[in-house]
Amino acid sequence: MPNAVEPPSESPDRLAAAYELLADGGAAPLAGGTDLMVQLTGELGEPPDRIVDIWRVDELRGIGTAGGTLSIGALTTYTDLRRSPDVARHAPALAGAAATIGAAQIQNRGTIGGNVINASPAGDTLPVLLAMDATMVLGSAGGERRVAAGEFWTGYRATARRPEELLVRVEIPIRDHRQVRFRKIGTRRAQAISKVVVALAWTADGPDAPWSDVRLALGSVAATTVRARGAESVLEGARPTMDTADAAVAALTAVLEPIDDVRSTAEYRRLVAGRVLHRLIREEGSW
Ligand SMILES: Cc1cc2nc3c(=O)[nH]c(=O)nc-3n(C[C@H](O)[C@H](O)[C@H](O)COP(=O)(O)OP(=O)(O)OC[C@H]3O[C@@H](n4cnc5c(N)ncnc54)[C@H](O)[C@@H]3O)c2cc1C
Repeated sequence: MPNAVEPPSESPDRLAAAYELLADGGAAPLAGGTDLMVQLTGELGEPPDRIVDIWRVDELRGIGTAGGTLSIGALTTYTDLRRSPDVARHAPALAGAAATIGAAQIQNRGTIGGNVINASPAGDTLPVLLAMDATMVLGSAGGERRVAAGEFWTGYRATARRPEELLVRVEIPIRDHRQVRFRKIGTRRAQAISKVVVALAWTADGPDAPWSDVRLALGSVAATTVRARGAESVLEGARPTMDTADAAVAALTAVLEPIDDVRSTAEYRRLVAGRVLHRLIREEGSW
């Protein structure tokens, strides 16, 4: 059994100091540690040589709205997301996703930034962020840059982040009349890694009005979180009828090539993704 390693670590309390410690690109930031501490054993690949503990950097915390954007600091925990009135108002599906992650211990310590950067295809916030057209704000000593969620996850556990960068915050555009629905399928209601995650977003003027700006994002069905553009085109401009739902499910399952792994078979994932999509389209929303 590999030994637990204790890489040298530093614990800055200012963002500028954290950037300085990360500048050579050789250290891994440590946020809540709920993914990284597991990696330190060496059982899941090469552990990092050096760690920079960013937990005390309060500049990476906080949730707020300004200029039509909901801004969520990278160190925001799932418990923070669940308790935030701004998230409840502008991104309730994100609070819903946070509520399905781990159990209370993980929700108190795990952060949205860690979920985004860890880039697991089973990361539960990722489909919601993709469906809501979120932007990732990355920072380093050289300044900040922004990357759209659609370009952020570049492959299996790979992101557009450069080694010297921190994820500073996630920005979600606030849109009138937008609905977002989320569903996670796992083995249990708590402490379950997802078999299928689906997030569906659209705007409409009422329950029977035609949909626009449709975004359908899925997790745990491919190497990374993906959008299902064929099903989106079926839903764009359509009303949420039974026929529309049938056609969208057909478009989704025709192209979906889920992974077969220890948690589930590809066939189960394809079937369930279709059933979940059907329900999300037909579900009564709160208008
Ligand atoms: C028992 C258990 C249950 C879990 N259940 C779920 C679940 O149901 N759903 C789910 O999606 N996940 C689950 N996870 C995984 C994990 O809790 C989440 O991915 C969590 O959000 C990770 O956040 P963290 O703050 O702990 O990240 P850390 O472990 O601190 O970091 C994760 C990765 O992100 C990097 N990183 C962290 N913050 C930043 C930043 N601001 N800038 C740049 N890089 C950064 C780290 O270097 C590391 O590579 C579970 C984990 C455990 C142990």
